[in-house]
Amino acid sequence: MSGRVIDGAAIAAGLVARLAGEVSADLAAGHAAPGLAVVLVGNDPASRVYVRAKGRRAVEAGFRSIEHVLPEDTAEADLLALVARLNADPEVDGILVQLPLPRHIAAAAVIAAIDPAKDVDGFHPVNVGRLSIGEDALVPCTPMGAMMLLRSVRRDLAGLEAVVIGRSNIVGKPMAQLLIAADCTVTVAHSRSRDLPAICRRADILVAAVGRPEMVRGDWIRPGALVIDVGINRLPGSDGKGRLVGDVHFGEALAVAGAVTPVPGGAGPMTIACLLANTLKAARARRGQRFDPLATDA
Ligand code: NAP
Repeated sequence: MSGRVIDGAAIAAGLVARLAGEVSADLAAGHAAPGLAVVLVGNDPASRVYVRAKGRRAVEAGFRSIEHVLPEDTAEADLLALVARLNADPEVDGILVQLPLPRHIAAAAVIAAIDPAKDVDGFHPVNVGRLSIGEDALVPCTPMGAMMLLRSVRRDLAGLEAVVIGRSNIVGKPMAQLLIAADCTVTVAHSRSRDLPAICRRADILVAAVGRPEMVRGDWIRPGALVIDVGINRLPGSDGKGRLVGDVHFGEALAVAGAVTPVPGGAGPMTIACLLANTLKAARARRGQRFDPLATDA
């Protein structure tokens, strides 16, 4: 048996194209393009790459991209002052402060300072709380993308056993909330879980968000399961550049699973597409209109 590969790159491109269409319709109706402000503090090379990619994709889809690059030694008070200015700026619909922040800045304080209505990362405690009580919320982008990938294979997830490996605030916990909202029976596993392979073998839906290369092996996977691999791990390669792998052994998973996401080209591309979806949602909400990215087909 061989499973289906879930083409996250194609699904993300389809979502971005649909968002671009929505933005064109807004412009034709006399509204401004949604504005996304991305704030980067310091010189972390991976963060620079992400921020540049976010800005580029935003502009390609017709959004306005506003970038603030601050030096590594920026004081927390100065960053909070910038967030306050962006909160008050009517041209800014979404604010994203790229994590991780330098050690002298408390990320929790910065996240809490963002207007929840502009919190397109979905990390503000108000959005986290709303998601957990089933109210409309800005939902973190990576788990939102993972839900869309699951729904691209199977629309109705009700009653399925879902196992999420990882309990981070940015992936594991919101993923579990979304699966609960989709009427799955959800188990959240982590580094202290006992007999992880046995827990995983129960899963109709297995989401791995761990950060350990190819940890999930073929014999951890229930035949026919849907497997979403959120992990991004760089292994050293003979070319000096290395290669990216997920948290799931892709070749083994493909032989057992019903459908599985590759790395790269699976969950990764969905994250930026969902950031744009959240920015459009925030822009529409600010003028009293509803846009629910998860209610539309990815
Ligand atoms: P994180 O904050 O480091 O959390 C990792 C989670 O995995 C923790 O809950 C940890 O358990 C658990 N864990 C670690 N070792 C384990 C083990 N041996 N068995 C079971 N659970 C274990 O990571 P994250 O931010 O959630 O990211 C997870 C992965 O997703 C990373 O590879 C990251 O690069 C990737 N990621 C991808 C995207 C994307 O755009 N596709 C976005 C975000 C993250 P404890 O809580 O007990 O420590």
